[in-house]
Amino acid sequence: MKGAGMPEVSATELFRRGFNFTPTRVARAPGRLEVLGNHTDYNEGLVMSVAVDRYIEIAASPRTDGRIELVSSVFPQRELFAVTDIRRNPEAPWADYVKGVLLELRRKGVHFSGFSAAIDSSIPLGAGMSSSAALEVATALVVRELYPYALNEQGAADVPPTRDRQGRLPVLGVKERLPLARLCQAAENRFVGVNCGLLDQISSLFGKAHHVLSIDCRFQTVAHAPLVGEAIVVCNTGVKHALVGGEYNALREHCESAARALQAKSLRSVEMSYLKANKHRLSPREYECAYHVVGEIQRVVYAERALREDDHRQFGQYLFQSHESSRDFLRNSCPELDLLVDLARQHRACLGSRLTGGGFGGATISLVAYHEVEAFIAHMSSAYEQRTGRQLEPVVCQVVDGAG
Ligand code: ADP
Ligand code: MG
Repeated sequence: MKGAGMPEVSATELFRRGFNFTPTRVARAPGRLEVLGNHTDYNEGLVMSVAVDRYIEIAASPRTDGRIELVSSVFPQRELFAVTDIRRNPEAPWADYVKGVLLELRRKGVHFSGFSAAIDSSIPLGAGMSSSAALEVATALVVRELYPYALNEQGAADVPPTRDRQGRLPVLGVKERLPLARLCQAAENRFVGVNCGLLDQISSLFGKAHHVLSIDCRFQTVAHAPLVGEAIVVCNTGVKHALVGGEYNALREHCESAARALQAKSLRSVEMSYLKANKHRLSPREYECAYHVVGEIQRVVYAERALREDDHRQFGQYLFQSHESSRDFLRNSCPELDLLVDLARQHRACLGSRLTGGGFGGATISLVAYHEVEAFIAHMSSAYEQRTGRQLEPVVCQVVDGAG
């Protein structure tokens, strides 16, 4: 992984070191930041996100022995298994993301054989930038590079894409992107065991430079709205959150049982007035979670409107409000995240700030006027260190195009 004090390693170089020859194919997929819409995706709600200039990159070459061998820049142990025997290895749980995608590809009728692959990353793990979805998408794309396939809603298409004279495949078709995002989500749900929504995979595949993605998780549609003039600054608390089997799944269960108690298909169908009138049908915790989700979906609607009207001050206010709702009702914040948002709010160049991603640690995003980014970063670093004794390294993320 690239970061402060760490050497820059490309996937190609990592491959050469790991396998002693040069890889034939490379694929990469960006991480993402959730801009607004906290825990709304699995409630069939609305969410805004961006793909950012942090990537998982995989370099690979086919092999003829029917085996798959993986090395990673982050985890020291190699993983080797037969194409015909893809199962979990508790010694290398990180490889589950790759294996899950391989199994889902096979379920869809994609044929592949063995390969060697090196996985490099500039996405910090568990920091709310979704390294897992980027790993899934990059895996699906590197398999496409090695063993070309085209996906549609039914599965693998009869005719695979063909390479041009330089050996390049055509870019992913618009109609292939959603099935691919769903396939990667299924890998994480079924094989890894994290009940994530579709937000991360969609963001990695549908991102557009200088634009925010507006994702409707019920109808699975994506729209783009321009966001220029402000930088997105990420401040990582350095506090870890464990999503597998953890608080994330618990929040999801509260939301789903709230919807059931309200006889709604999902919280997307619930209006605030209806929720309030039916408070007595929910447990206190179900009500709090539902209150956050229903209000948050409404906030995304208002925020889209503010963006369309070019009112970025108002847009930023919704970010602050979102944080308060996550903190007070969903209760997935933590003291470090709250402190970062409070410190950001003190700076005049900051339009909005909130926790992003699963919560319970991880990172905040702040929307900051471009010409004052340096001053904002200096303020955040020194104030955070003063208050906690810990160092903070805020990073400016560029909004980039999606994978493929
Ligand atoms: P995030 O918020 O970053 O998606 P997750 O816990 O969902 O956090 O996913 C992180 C997991 O993804 C890691 O624990 C690891 O299993 C896998 N992963 C991420 N980056 C890499 C990498 N470069 N090499 C191998 N596995 C990785
Ligand atoms: Mg993840």
